[in-house]
Amino acid sequence: MLLLTASSPVAAQTGIEDYRPVFETVRAEDGRKLIAIRRFRRNGEEFLLTVEPQSLATQIRPLAWTVADGTPDTSKLDGTPYFSALTALTNPPYKIENTGLVHAMLPVDGVFLTVDLCPSHRAYEAHFFAELARVSAREGRPTPVAISISGYWALEHQSEWTALIEAERRRQIDITWVNHSYTHRYARGLPDAQNFLLMPNTDFEREVLKTEELLIARGLTPSVFFRFPGLVSDEYLVLKLRKLGLIPLGADAWLAKGRRAKPGSIVLVHGNGNEPLGIREVQPYLADTRVKWLPLREAITGR
Ligand SMILES: [Zn+2]
Repeated sequence: MLLLTASSPVAAQTGIEDYRPVFETVRAEDGRKLIAIRRFRRNGEEFLLTVEPQSLATQIRPLAWTVADGTPDTSKLDGTPYFSALTALTNPPYKIENTGLVHAMLPVDGVFLTVDLCPSHRAYEAHFFAELARVSAREGRPTPVAISISGYWALEHQSEWTALIEAERRRQIDITWVNHSYTHRYARGLPDAQNFLLMPNTDFEREVLKTEELLIARGLTPSVFFRFPGLVSDEYLVLKLRKLGLIPLGADAWLAKGRRAKPGSIVLVHGNGNEPLGIREVQPYLADTRVKWLPLREAITGR
């Protein structure tokens, strides 16, 4: 009883404590320069969430495996794909809808599939995920898919979440975990400017960090991408996101809204059962053997 009251409820559930943003360069065992964007303690040991600035690959690493390199001199990071994209995609103008990465920054021979899991009482799109596994079998490699997961979806759909993790373990899909906020605030009928994370009393940092903690507690690694609920944001949120080291992810091919994908497009569908039209619209793309699905970070790094 004493132990339970001494630690926070989150720590009691996940074993993760003192989860906090940092922005520091560190060196890996092999001397590679990495950027640490989070630090936390788990079972008494210190860990970092690091970003590889050339590839944008993220990793959870014990602090003991790294050598501190001091606070980054950002001029030395200029020109790396991560830092260039983080800056360019959080610069003005601050459109209220669909800001950030909406299309590949370099020419690529393929498209990017992003699947949103907003909170929902419906079952997820099991047939769609099974179809992705069939595409993987056809192509002989796990199909890359960026899954934008909200904390509230994950908490309410534990067995479906487990099935996705299991599908990746079986190499049926290759998941990039995109943060879609923890609560995914939304009120029907409110204009965008007062809705989603622009609602009053939104604790934006908590929305970001709690989702990451949930992923890490599950043994997963958050990516550098964040998708704003409703694709709605403002200057304040985008600049906060930049400080947290994350890149806003939009879409130029939200299929249910009648948009079509072309090379370099970021395709958006909902996997949470709330938008069956998008799931129908993506079928011809999945059936088309000429369509190459690419990992999301290649929208920034190219191939
Ligand atoms: Zn959403």
